[in-house]
Amino acid sequence: MKVQLTPNPQPLAADLRAAKIAEGGFGKYYTDNMVVAEWSEVDGWTDATLKPYGPITLDPATAVFHYGQEIFEGMKAYAQPDGGISLFRPEANALRFAKSAKRLALPEMPIDFFIDTVKELVKQDRAWVPGNIGESLYIRPFMIATEVGLGVRPSNKAMYLLIATPASAYFTSSKAVTVWISTEYVRAALGGTGEAKCGGNYAASLMAQKQAAAEGCDQVVWLDAKERRYVEEMGGMNLYFVKGTGADATILTPKLTGTLLPGITRDSILKVGEDLGYKVEETMLTIDDWRDGVASGEISEIFACGTAAVVSAVGAAKSAHGMWQTGNGEPGPITAAIRKRLLDIQHGVAEDTHGWNVRVC
Ligand SMILES: *Cc1c(COP(=O)(O)O)cnc(C)c1O
Repeated sequence: MKVQLTPNPQPLAADLRAAKIAEGGFGKYYTDNMVVAEWSEVDGWTDATLKPYGPITLDPATAVFHYGQEIFEGMKAYAQPDGGISLFRPEANALRFAKSAKRLALPEMPIDFFIDTVKELVKQDRAWVPGNIGESLYIRPFMIATEVGLGVRPSNKAMYLLIATPASAYFTSSKAVTVWISTEYVRAALGGTGEAKCGGNYAASLMAQKQAAAEGCDQVVWLDAKERRYVEEMGGMNLYFVKGTGADATILTPKLTGTLLPGITRDSILKVGEDLGYKVEETMLTIDDWRDGVASGEISEIFACGTAAVVSAVGAAKSAHGMWQTGNGEPGPITAAIRKRLLDIQHGVAEDTHGWNVRVC
């Protein structure tokens, strides 16, 4: 499969584009083009088309509107010191997209085809990639079930779309987020779709997010569905706990039990943490470990990680059983060091010893 190029003949004027990029924020403006590819059970995948960004038309009885058969990815393109552009671990996104597709009974997209669509869009819309460290072009691949009809069955048609939006700092990186630990709602149970990146997981999480906001918190923290004791994730990000301080510190993250989303940032930090000389652990941690750990001072820092915000510090935690604080509301030194190293690799400032960056242009 190829990507046929029929780009927007009238891309946004440079001064207007610059103003939109400078405005910052996340997901407000989209680039001049998008990519669309279609799949059917009969014909398989057909060539993708890169074309002007714009609305799509679908029959109201299209499957995705009724039964939520949808998956997505989130990845970024980063400006490099020499003016070029790189993607960060695109193959990891391609592999996860295929896994999510399988879980949602959608067609798996060939890895190279997925990466080619991303490369072509970034190349075409390279003028939209912001230049400063911490800024990037956020890329959103997604796939929807497009069979028309209300019968409940795996769709025999699907559409893949790819859009991109310039991103400045997503969460303000300078201040710790406060979290509401939900004991009422769960994000994922074993056998469910927790490991897949699908819209349905998010739809089911919004009520808890609303509750977190009502409690004065920025984000929800999810516990395991069975015992409601083990800490799993924060909103749409993975979590890390720092035990001890300085060179002897251990950074630990909840292990992938089958209900957590296997974050690519999480995986990268396991290696970056080791590179920086910390001990690294994947383990189970309970809500009691968290509370007691910050009370005794053994847990010195907590942070969340994901493609959109990269790394953000977690401060106060609140639940139906009380409230406790980690640190002073400012990101701790290890959180800051890990954030910096990861961003430096992504922007080509630190050496890419793991071969994570893939040059686009
Ligand atoms: C996407 C996502 C993450 C983070 O994954 P990255 O690959 O690091 O962006 C974590 N948790 C959930 C629920 C997610 O959807």
